Amino acid sequence: MGKSFSIPISRRDFMKMAGMAAIGVLAEGAIGGTDTVSAAGSKAGTINYGGKEIPVLFSVDVCVAGGGPSGTAAAIMAARNGAKTVLIERGVALGGLAVLGCVYPFMDTHAPDSDTPYVAEVKKRLRQHGIEPFDGVTQQTWHNPETLTLIYDEMCSEAGVNVLFQTVVVDTVVEGQKLTACIVQTIAGLAAIQAKTFIDSTGDAYLSRSAGVPYERGYEKTGNNQPLSFRFEMGGIDVGRLYQHVAVELQEDWCKSKPPYFEIAEAMHRKQRYKLEDLMAKGVASGEITQEEAEYMQAYTIIGKNGVMSMNCPEIPVKFSATDPVSYSKAVAYGRRMMHNIASYLIRHLPGFEKAFISREAAMLGARESWRIRGKHYLVEDDYHSQSRFADAVCRTAWFIDAHGEKVSEKLPKGGYYEIPYGALVAEKIENLIVAGRCISASFILQASMRIQPTCMSIGEAAGIAAAWGLKKHIAANAIAWDKIPPEKRSYVSK
Ligand SMILES: Cc1cc2nc3c(=O)[nH]c(=O)nc-3n(C[C@H](O)[C@H](O)[C@H](O)COP(=O)(O)OP(=O)(O)OC[C@H]3O[C@@H](n4cnc5c(N)ncnc54)[C@H](O)[C@@H]3O)c2cc1C
Repeated sequence: MGKSFSIPISRRDFMKMAGMAAIGVLAEGAIGGTDTVSAAGSKAGTINYGGKEIPVLFSVDVCVAGGGPSGTAAAIMAARNGAKTVLIERGVALGGLAVLGCVYPFMDTHAPDSDTPYVAEVKKRLRQHGIEPFDGVTQQTWHNPETLTLIYDEMCSEAGVNVLFQTVVVDTVVEGQKLTACIVQTIAGLAAIQAKTFIDSTGDAYLSRSAGVPYERGYEKTGNNQPLSFRFEMGGIDVGRLYQHVAVELQEDWCKSKPPYFEIAEAMHRKQRYKLEDLMAKGVASGEITQEEAEYMQAYTIIGKNGVMSMNCPEIPVKFSATDPVSYSKAVAYGRRMMHNIASYLIRHLPGFEKAFISREAAMLGARESWRIRGKHYLVEDDYHSQSRFADAVCRTAWFIDAHGEKVSEKLPKGGYYEIPYGALVAEKIENLIVAGRCISASFILQASMRIQPTCMSIGEAAGIAAAWGLKKHIAANAIAWDKIPPEKRSYVSK
């Protein structure tokens, strides 16, 4: 590959992109000293990688890997706080599992006043886009994945975040205790992104593991990851008929809200029993579905997508691993077969589904848990039960421990919560790295509580603020004392 790196982009589009980035930086004030990004030819030069000269595509203050709930929040907040920021996402939409994985809706943290400003803003923006996220009965946030990802595009653009889509982080360059660059596979080939601070929000701790940060995976007692799911959406559903059958005729009171906010849960959902149990058990008895297909199924209406439900299934047996590439790949085909079996069964037997069809399948498998870093602070199950508080807390949550197949805890008493400390976002090994989202430093069991989307967003929000703060104050990311940042600049202050 030659020294000049050329992305086929029209001059008009390029000027627009460059202008947008410049406006973002000028409006907020860059932290300083970085080269201007050029899409049509890197001005930041090249680096030698594996014996090849590869272009440096960006040289910035903050590089965020992974555009899920945590990474998008991190990038937006870093940029809003004056850091020239790049966000790398391997898909073509921001939102991670919430969008690419069809994971819906935002669960309620169950903690009082847990919404950090960013989370509150996302909810407000949904409403501004015509999606009312609250049903007035349940506490979950019903959204719309297509609108959510549009909102993320808008927020990134307004903040001046440079988003690189269809770009995969494949390696890192580490010098001493510092991560100096990450190597990415772009649509045009390999390139490097240099940054002063990196945020790993890949969900799989990919950047951290590549940089040599210690990590764990799966449950220490069994070695298993949490089960994967292959979520999908079904369209053509007569939601009124479904509601009539499930809520009125069967008198299922699982979902207290009414259409357009409505959800069903199947029969054998862990230890609970639902009114659809007979229906699913009949399918197992007749051989139309398997026990594993019957065991976990939940479906939610999607606001703004009439007749469409988000299917929280199939749950793929744990013999398929979220951390083994061969096993993971086999899980795709296995899960797709399960998806079709479940869909066909519902179409044949569940009132309201007569004309339904699979309208969308997830663009990534749903990994609840894969790899987690071992950071400066390690959260454990007892932090949940003891409702731990930390001076350097970045958010609070109280979602119950939901380690499918291993442990499902009781909810904390009303008003109870635990906090997540900044120390769980950083590791000793790499000084300019912050980790956000479901791969922070937490045990398998505790992670099963903190992994919900609003909590991941709040963690990302804090990571972005901290990254920009550290650069302004010349403090290494893993040495930042979150509680020493002025309270008005923090997204969360422990009481
Ligand atoms: C089946 C299932 C059901 C769930 N149900 C709910 C629910 O109902 N409500 C709720 O609130 N939460 C739910 N969760 C949990 C929640 O969705 C996730 O824990 C949360 O999305 C994690 O956010 P994240 O930002 O850490 O990572 P992710 O959402 O996993 O995002 C990571 C992003 O990084 C990108 N990425 C990864 N590696 C690379 C790389 N090398 N280079 C570039 N990009 C990369 C991915 O494409 C992705 O966009 C569920 C999870 C699953 C799996």
